[in-house]
Amino acid sequence: MGYTIIYMLLSYCLQYQQVPILCYHNISKADDGKEDLLHISEKHFQQQMQYLYNNGYTAITPDGLYAHMNGGAPLPSKSIMITFDDSHETHYSLAVPVLNQFHFRGVFFIMTVCLNKTGWLTASEIRDMSDQGHIIACHTWDHTNLALHPSYNVNEQIVKPKALLEKITGTSVCYFAFPYGEWNEQAIKDLKQANYIGAFQLASHQQSTDPNFTVRRIMVSGKWTAVQLKEAIDKAFILP
Ligand SMILES: [Zn+2]
Repeated sequence: MGYTIIYMLLSYCLQYQQVPILCYHNISKADDGKEDLLHISEKHFQQQMQYLYNNGYTAITPDGLYAHMNGGAPLPSKSIMITFDDSHETHYSLAVPVLNQFHFRGVFFIMTVCLNKTGWLTASEIRDMSDQGHIIACHTWDHTNLALHPSYNVNEQIVKPKALLEKITGTSVCYFAFPYGEWNEQAIKDLKQANYIGAFQLASHQQSTDPNFTVRRIMVSGKWTAVQLKEAIDKAFILP
């Protein structure tokens, strides 16, 4: 109840529609029963996407969300965003085929330190995902917690990964996800300086003073049924 009041007030203050944004991490082939907020099996991921598809959701991109937030561009009535953190190779081999099956576009936040290493996304996979219409975005070089380590190297963590991902995809890379969802004002300032348009965090409140750089997401448990996914979405986001 407390959350509901807070988010109703927030929606009123921000003057735009809240869009549920889901955050996935590891996706595994096997359904080994060890699923949690960081792990989901291909089967359960497929079931969750099927639920969203059956219930009329449209997966929007960051460009669509920011056009709505900043200029009132209309969104589909049941909008959702489906994001993936940390560059796991299974994002390409397991998640993308499921997304494509339902005509959902995903948003992939890449940490470039593991590029081309075993078990992690390769440059050609990232390029192919981008060419297929999925969105490639940045998640630092090596997953440094920017809020916890304020002396981080801006060039290494924020500037160079953007340039590298732009070279790989041949498109602009304008969005960022804070490792661990943790952010502070200095990190936001550095992102703006490096020409990012916006950034995604996790569960702390979106800031009315800087909403573009504090967009909220929820981590999805691999254990959730479709009904539990719906309940989590409804609890976290005030929807039209
Ligand atoms: Zn991460």
